Amino acid sequence: MTHTAPAAQDTPAPPVAVPITVIRGDGIGPEVVGAALRLMEEAGARLDIEECVAGAEVFRAGNQTGVPQETIDSIERTGVALKGPLETPIGHGEKSANVTLRKLFETYGNIRPAREIPGLATPYAGRGVDVVIVRENLEDLYAGIEHMQTPGVCLSLKVITRHGSEKIARLAFEYARATGRKSVTCATKANIMKLGEGMFGRTFDDVARDYPDIEARQILVDNCAHQLVMRPEQFDVIVTTNMNGDILSDLTSGLVGGLGFAPSANIGSETAMFEAVHGSAPDIAGRDVANPSALMFSAAMLLRHVGQPDVADAIEDALLYTLEQGDVLTGDIAPAGTTPAGTTAFTDAVIGNLGKVPATGVRRESRPLVMPERTWRPKAIEAKVREVVGMEVLLEQAGMPASEVGRLVEECAEGSPLRLALISSRGTKVYPGHADDVEMIETWRARFVRADESVELTDEQIFRVVGCLGQRFRWSNLQKLQVFDGEPGYTKVSGEA
Ligand code: NAD
Repeated sequence: MTHTAPAAQDTPAPPVAVPITVIRGDGIGPEVVGAALRLMEEAGARLDIEECVAGAEVFRAGNQTGVPQETIDSIERTGVALKGPLETPIGHGEKSANVTLRKLFETYGNIRPAREIPGLATPYAGRGVDVVIVRENLEDLYAGIEHMQTPGVCLSLKVITRHGSEKIARLAFEYARATGRKSVTCATKANIMKLGEGMFGRTFDDVARDYPDIEARQILVDNCAHQLVMRPEQFDVIVTTNMNGDILSDLTSGLVGGLGFAPSANIGSETAMFEAVHGSAPDIAGRDVANPSALMFSAAMLLRHVGQPDVADAIEDALLYTLEQGDVLTGDIAPAGTTPAGTTAFTDAVIGNLGKVPATGVRRESRPLVMPERTWRPKAIEAKVREVVGMEVLLEQAGMPASEVGRLVEECAEGSPLRLALISSRGTKVYPGHADDVEMIETWRARFVRADESVELTDEQIFRVVGCLGQRFRWSNLQKLQVFDGEPGYTKVSGEA
């Protein structure tokens, strides 16, 4: 149930131009996208470009999403986009146009390669850093589900699904195969978030069995950050959840010269969008000083994706050769005391170097990614036996001792099939028992369990207790405690026996 992205490296060049959508974007976007387009044309890219808009001007025109329907239609048609950075102007729109595009086209994988650039002076120069972060792009804390429980307490939901974890793990292994890489490391915080990050890691292990040719490793994300700084050469592909990946991929960009050189691909089953990692850099916009390298590397990724690896290689070679020569460099990397080149002059130099090959670094051969088809849908994971064994409710009460809160809460369970198991404050048990060292805030999480384990709990029984609690406290969040096939679907709180 897979299909291969268009054309392969060893097949002849497609006779017709490949349609792509181009969004020039905001700030320095038009300058760096313009530079990349010139380079692609000069290098012989066979593209049929549909120019579309998104971002600040669209928000200002009153479109609350920042992405007009014509742009959506174009990307649906072409399945491939090259885009500049997009801004959400203050006072316009609720969500960023970037996030809207990623969600709309289900680009669930964010691929960010970080490879040493010849000639670029960094603390890691000469170490051969060549790592790719494959970041889950849709779930986790970026689902954007946040609720203020009180004026001073917020819950932000971290959403991890087996489906999303499986897709990104497969993408990471397929990417490793397509680019001739040897290992995939899964970075999680499974020691703390045993269910969410833990499921991501367990899913990775399951998927790894389908790729015996690739070494699969697990690492805790904090150690991963440490190892990336200490010995980045050890990593090949790193797959991780959205938030971890956001942070780690900025770190890896920093290892090889910073945002000016960091390309990225947002990949979905049917759509791929290529863009620089950096933003619109309003501080330097319109001055012909921006470094277009990241967009040019992104353009090379796009060309590989659409089956024009010969043009992608030519672009990368010319760009790396220019950087290696080091006599025409933009202001962000030009050594002190030298005259920096503008965006246009730098692009002219790269175009002039088409056909030249850098002396250092070995080009990585790649073949197209094998992606799951759009119609691929996982079956919902079914438990044979699922039981509701309790519930938790978040209560608000400022300034009352835990013992008094506990007494009031316990009274509400009297005569019901539920009994109070414990009350926690920010994940630490504060009742029953001594909680003198715990700093109390105004929310208390009361956990109730079945008084009789042979009795199945009903919603009505739960609501009756919540109704009583509601007479005594403000409550804001109700959560069932469930057990699936004997496995608790909830974690113990700190201090719980
Ligand atoms: P930024 O990346 O735009 O700028 C950070 C710093 O890096 C600035 O000093 C800037 O001048 C410099 N810089 C960035 N790209 C450069 C380049 N190619 N050449 C030389 N210098 C460069 O980050 P920011 O200031 O936090 O964000 C500005 C705007 O961009 C915000 O509205 C933000 O939401 C948006 N943004 C968009 C995207 C995207 O579309 N994918 C990504 C990040 C930020």
